[in-house]
Amino acid sequence: MGLLNFNCIFPSCSFKCNNVEEEEFLKHLNEEHHKDMLDISKKENMSIKAVQMITVSNSIVFINSG
Ligand SMILES: [Zn+2]
Repeated sequence: MGLLNFNCIFPSCSFKCNNVEEEEFLKHLNEEHHKDMLDISKKENMSIKAVQMITVSNSIVFINSG
């Protein structure tokens, strides 16, 4: 996978990063939002892995390159 732009989906967080690998954003999620994701996984009865994947895909910013 190539480089992506991320805009963290958690409302309390203003983390943005451009041209990074998914792994870089995952690091941010695990460092800053482990508890948030755990809460969601319990609430939605999903695995934390699934919550993580959804969070990542919802945080990707698609730029229209024309
Ligand atoms: Zn964040």
